[in-house]
Amino acid sequence: MYTRVKTASEITNMRESGRILATVLQALRDEVKEGVTTKELSDMAMKHVKKLGGEPAFYGYQGFPEAICISVNDEIVHGIPRTETVIKNGDIVSLDFGVNYKGMITDSAISVICGGVAPKPVADLVKYTEQSLMEGLAVIKDGCFAGDIGFAVEKVLNKHGYGIIRDMVGHGVGHAVHEDPNIPNYGRKGSGAKLVAGMTIAVEPMATLGGERISVDSDEWTIRTADGSLAAHFEHTVLITEDGYEILTQL
Ligand code: MG
Ligand code: MG
Repeated sequence: MYTRVKTASEITNMRESGRILATVLQALRDEVKEGVTTKELSDMAMKHVKKLGGEPAFYGYQGFPEAICISVNDEIVHGIPRTETVIKNGDIVSLDFGVNYKGMITDSAISVICGGVAPKPVADLVKYTEQSLMEGLAVIKDGCFAGDIGFAVEKVLNKHGYGIIRDMVGHGVGHAVHEDPNIPNYGRKGSGAKLVAGMTIAVEPMATLGGERISVDSDEWTIRTADGSLAAHFEHTVLITEDGYEILTQL
């Protein structure tokens, strides 16, 4: 499905979907503590999203068994929360959450360093991956191209010498978790899909301290770096407007 220009009422529901998502992610950020398991974090997300009137959009999506994807250290995305995955201080914990509110879906991710302290290269990876997301968003407006976003994201990540995950990309979002077109984290200005006001897209850079190759675990979900290097991931769902964009997944 190609992402549609949303109606006014769909946009209203997407704003609420994004508000719920951001509320849950902000609360979960504070629960990333030494000793917590990723399953406990997933259970908190499930409880909280329901309390706010939303549904966890990833739960059951193509058979995904949990409310949220949690990927730790060399895991990049799609990690399955588990009772045996215990978080330690210094871990990079990526929380990737989707919310369905009245049929409208938003998608957002943050990476958090447990305990807030990590060696500078690790702290920088998290900081600049987030910055690459914000720089990618900054070029969005009616009539821009997916390649404009990718170019802006890639510029930040290249400056710091990070591996850019090319096999995983941002995407249209709204009526489904993943809609066309792809929004890669690299590209040439003026290339790729043309984006217009009223579309809603998820931009989601994934960067590593090593290479760009990925490997998929035997659980067929967890995607990690092939070389074992650390990874970070940030994502927002945005509404494209006439002269810019509106981030739907922030408070
Ligand atoms: Mg996501
Ligand atoms: Mg996404």
